[in-house]
Amino acid sequence: MRCSVVAVGTELLLGQIVDTNSSWIGEQLAANGIDSLLQVKVGDNHQRIVDVVRSALVEADAVIMCGGLGPTHDDLTREAIAEVMGVELVLHDDIAQVIRDIFESRGRRMADNNLQQAMVPVGATVIHQTRGTAPGLMCPVGDKVIYAVPGVPHEMQDMMERAILPDLRARSGDTSVIASRVIRTWGESESGLNERLNPIIAQLEEVGNPTLAFLASGWEGIKVRLTAKGADSQQAHAVLDDWQAKVLDVVGDVVFGFDADNMESVVLNLLREQGLTLGLAESVTGGLVSGRLTSIPGASDVLRGSVVSYSSEVKFDLLDVPRGPVVSEDAAVAMAEGARRVLGADVALSLTGVAGPAEQDGQPVGTLCIAVAINGRATVSTTLRMPGQRDQMRQMSVISSLDFLRRQILFSSNAY
Ligand code: ATP
Ligand code: MG
Repeated sequence: MRCSVVAVGTELLLGQIVDTNSSWIGEQLAANGIDSLLQVKVGDNHQRIVDVVRSALVEADAVIMCGGLGPTHDDLTREAIAEVMGVELVLHDDIAQVIRDIFESRGRRMADNNLQQAMVPVGATVIHQTRGTAPGLMCPVGDKVIYAVPGVPHEMQDMMERAILPDLRARSGDTSVIASRVIRTWGESESGLNERLNPIIAQLEEVGNPTLAFLASGWEGIKVRLTAKGADSQQAHAVLDDWQAKVLDVVGDVVFGFDADNMESVVLNLLREQGLTLGLAESVTGGLVSGRLTSIPGASDVLRGSVVSYSSEVKFDLLDVPRGPVVSEDAAVAMAEGARRVLGADVALSLTGVAGPAEQDGQPVGTLCIAVAINGRATVSTTLRMPGQRDQMRQMSVISSLDFLRRQILFSSNAY
């Protein structure tokens, strides 16, 4: 099964948007065992779109088109496909009704040109929309096929996963099921992880299933993704469970979560399971930690609040930090204990550091002092060196400090 991708949109050619859709599609095709032949970009011009699709269909068994399915005059994908298929476009009443209903439910008037999105080439199958208004299309051309999806990334991804990838795999005679698992790590470099996982990677190269990939995700850490094939979903997941256990045996010390987990959801769940409340004292991050935690629904049953003690006076007066250098572990310890008291929390995390541009208290830019105060235990602190400019330093501080907190809670429950 050989597949090509045609991304439609003049803004792609002008460099106004980056064609991330094609790279995402390419990655999915590879994970599904379908060969990628060609990826091209074409502007919003009827004849050029027709020419590009025709020539792509010479070599490829399938062409995926993304973009140009909307309601405006420069959305030409539908007409171009109809021409390549040599058929007319006809109005589908059920799609038209769905589009009317969407506008009505939002209390907005529908411009007539929206009904363009209900026009379907004769012989094509519709991929129903669950998010936007433009449906996708599956269009047979002899024994080949053209798929069309909207340009908006999450709409495109939804239709790819729901309809196109299963159809491509069915066409290729592949009845197996593909499942993947993301293992989230923090605290080890990509090359370090790679080195530690080398024996497992060598075994995987021999067995071929699952495959393993590293996804460096900046200040979200490094993800290790396992992708497995099985006769059915249960079998694919059994393969994933098996190899996940092997990966954890080797690098479990830096794994904090799986799949949709992130550091803040993991920390909140851990505290919730143990019936602990959390308070924060943030200096260098100015509230970023509480911002991340409160972006998780239901954070309020764990997070009591945060003292953004940005000025030294607030540290001294509100949190009882002894007068002296405020970028130090001693200051961090006093901040955490002060926050625990002021906020009435079981556990408190504090952060003080130097985001730059200038050094402070004789400490270089990138210095981060953090402390965790837990009811009934001696307060622990550490000093870390964060890389990068101001923004990166502060974002890295958020994740590093939450990971430190996570480890202290696990340690205090003897589960670590
Ligand atoms: P709509 O119904 O929203 O008009 P459409 O199918 O007509 O969808 P376009 O108008 O081509 O799609 O693109 C809509 C938006 O989707 C673009 O403004 C852009 O933000 C994004 N987009 C389009 N193509 C791509 C692409 N190849 N890669 C990444 N983003 C894209
Ligand atoms: Mg559009």
